[in-house]
Amino acid sequence: MTYKSDIEIAQECTMEPIVKIAEKAGIDEKYLEQYGRYKAKIDYNLLKESDAPDGKLVLVTAINPTPAGEGKTTTTVGLADALQRIGKHVVVALREPSLGPVFGVKGGAAGGGYAQVVPMEDINLHFTGDFHAIGAANNLLAAMIDNHIFQGNELNIDPRKITWRRCVDMNDRQLRNVIDGLGGRTNGTPREDGYDITVASEIMAVLCLANDITDLKARLARLVIGYTYGKPSEQQPVTAGDLHAEGAMCALLKDALKPNLVQTLEHVPAVVHGGPFANIAHGCNSVTATRMAMKLGDYCITEAGFGADLGAEKFLDIKCRMAGLKPNAVVIVATVRALKYNGGVAKADLNNENLEALEKGLPNLLKHVSNIRNVYHLPCVVAVNAFPTDTKAELDLVESKCRELGVNVALSEVWAKGSEGGVKLAEEVVRLCDEDNSGFSFSYGLEGSIEDKLNQIVQKVYGGKCAVLTANAKKQAAQLEALGYGSCPICVAKTQYSLTDDEKKLGAPTDFEVTVRNLKISAGAGFIVALTGDIMTMPGLPKRPAAERIDVDENGKISGLF
Ligand code: ADP
Ligand code: MG
Repeated sequence: MTYKSDIEIAQECTMEPIVKIAEKAGIDEKYLEQYGRYKAKIDYNLLKESDAPDGKLVLVTAINPTPAGEGKTTTTVGLADALQRIGKHVVVALREPSLGPVFGVKGGAAGGGYAQVVPMEDINLHFTGDFHAIGAANNLLAAMIDNHIFQGNELNIDPRKITWRRCVDMNDRQLRNVIDGLGGRTNGTPREDGYDITVASEIMAVLCLANDITDLKARLARLVIGYTYGKPSEQQPVTAGDLHAEGAMCALLKDALKPNLVQTLEHVPAVVHGGPFANIAHGCNSVTATRMAMKLGDYCITEAGFGADLGAEKFLDIKCRMAGLKPNAVVIVATVRALKYNGGVAKADLNNENLEALEKGLPNLLKHVSNIRNVYHLPCVVAVNAFPTDTKAELDLVESKCRELGVNVALSEVWAKGSEGGVKLAEEVVRLCDEDNSGFSFSYGLEGSIEDKLNQIVQKVYGGKCAVLTANAKKQAAQLEALGYGSCPICVAKTQYSLTDDEKKLGAPTDFEVTVRNLKISAGAGFIVALTGDIMTMPGLPKRPAAERIDVDENGKISGLF
């Protein structure tokens, strides 16, 4: 059987004008800034001025995935469509796609099959320009740093200790490490530099965590760009505020801070805004978008990147803590493929029925369920995202095993059927949202040492023995604590494929250590990044990039976005 591609399905959709969608969401015209017929930005003042009560907040996360993605975005969108189908007033909140993956391997990030947000071409291809604005603000700061050094370096910045990198929203390995400032005295100071992809810029995390424009500016001023000359004990952090850059950067970001409004294939209002990395940053759409979706709908469905050990952990421990949000329910997406992968099946064999491996992979799912229930104390349901390659025996086995163990479970067929395929899941989510969530708690408190907090994440969320800090990381921890950053939450950067820091350890391992090699302050975002290995902040393109298949015809119609 052949299936229509995502873009074919998306282009068959007759979209409603964005003013209609805004009306449906109850957005007063004065808050709406249209970007053409099908996109708009929503003024953040709506949040301050609206006295509507907040709707229920539902997080969609997943088990440890296969490299192909398990369908969190697809399930998020399909669940929202299904809630509408059963008569609920719902708004979905999602991240904006980065151009890197669009032209690389993974393709777009606007959902899939009959559960997508549209216009998918625009959403995937630089949308309303938010990421360009973030790039511009990031690179303005970089230019001001090097200019400051060129003009006499009053702040005594050590060029070898500059941590601020330039950025571009593209997968471009050529730019990972560069030497710039070449060409003699009048052309700057030569130094080793490098580029990150825009979504890895701290400005992305800052924009996504900022409550409003005042908070955004204050966070920008706190960005640490590097350190002064001197022995390690004498080095002082230098901030964007020291360079007087925060005002101009914030001016560049004033529209990017406004969430974007689009629609799902079934015309549910969708707020799509921000998209930080899920390893070195927290991996969820903006706080403003989530808050807005909660204001506008009785239900807000949102997604966090990667598996629940990274995505949900950061959503709950960082985003919800900073923004004062209290989720009502969590949906954990599982696929037969990812369960088999966790049960030891090689990537190439995932399409073959294998009940034994499926059962062997279940502990991974159960660990995530147990975390949501017993660490965070939130109601949850497993959504089995059905793929065309799954056999009935496999789907039945997952459902029956979950029921046997008292785990709520619902089959989700939204990819193939749209809202109709998500009714059971939607009904379960409505039921869970009426349960008690007053026990919601974080996996760690902020008061302990950096090492304490890391230990709690490793023990409670990953199921391991402890975190082990290298000598280097120990030194950095002591320095960060001495500088007054000790009470920040921790953002762990590790592989998404395993609960451990080793992508080959699948399932639900126990008794392992997680090695933390580097600790870095993201003072604007307000968290400490704990790196467990080399984390790629500037991806490369594959041998046959998706870009080779993307095209546009004489009418402006785009093809090949898969
Ligand atoms: P995630 O958000 O978890 O990364 P996505 O929802 O973006 O995953 O889905 C990843 C890819 O898998 C997309 O191309 C999507 O079309 C495809 N996909 C998702 N669910 C299904 C499904 N049930 N059947 C077939 N393909 C699917
Ligand atoms: Mg996604």
